[in-house]
Amino acid sequence: MAKGKSYKQNAIALFKSRIGKIVKSSELARVPGKDGNPISHNIRRIFELRDEDGYDIVNWKDNDKTGLNLKVDEWVLLSPEPNPEKIRSRRFNKRVWLEVMKRDNYQCQICGRTKDDDDPFRPGHKVTLHLGHKKAFKGRSGDWGASNDPDNYMVLCNVCNEGAKNTDVKEITMLDRVKKLDEKTKKEVYEYLKKEFEK
Ligand SMILES: [Zn+2]
Repeated sequence: MAKGKSYKQNAIALFKSRIGKIVKSSELARVPGKDGNPISHNIRRIFELRDEDGYDIVNWKDNDKTGLNLKVDEWVLLSPEPNPEKIRSRRFNKRVWLEVMKRDNYQCQICGRTKDDDDPFRPGHKVTLHLGHKKAFKGRSGDWGASNDPDNYMVLCNVCNEGAKNTDVKEITMLDRVKKLDEKTKKEVYEYLKKEFEK
């Protein structure tokens, strides 16, 4: 592990030297960062390797899928090459993130949910909004460049972003929103519409 390389570079090098074999959390904790010393919050970097860079790193939570029977402090890299399809979240430039959110009205572009709407698949939770890659959404892979162009992104909620199981996601209509308002605001809407239609 060379000095001057980032923690992530060093950690992925360790994983790649042991494809398909167990790497322990304690080993990952000893991997040095740029200055040659261990870093704090190193496990967060491991999740970034998985979620942002697309490396197929599995842990005990994936035991059902992998059949590997890993313990809580064990990690395995399954394949040496990252897979863009595995990328779960991308880190965005704040400006791009804000621009896309504003443009799309802080609203999921598929189902219309906002952060104030309930998650239909997780009772008691609200949805969370992400930026999704338009091209990935259209089912084309490749072309992961130009990642700072707002035109490449749209707002998606976690429900729609998670994919196929959601073909039956209910759209949130304006009427659904009005129904959720408090009595006073509902009355204002009613008075407004009444006036509009009596013109
Ligand atoms: Zn949605």
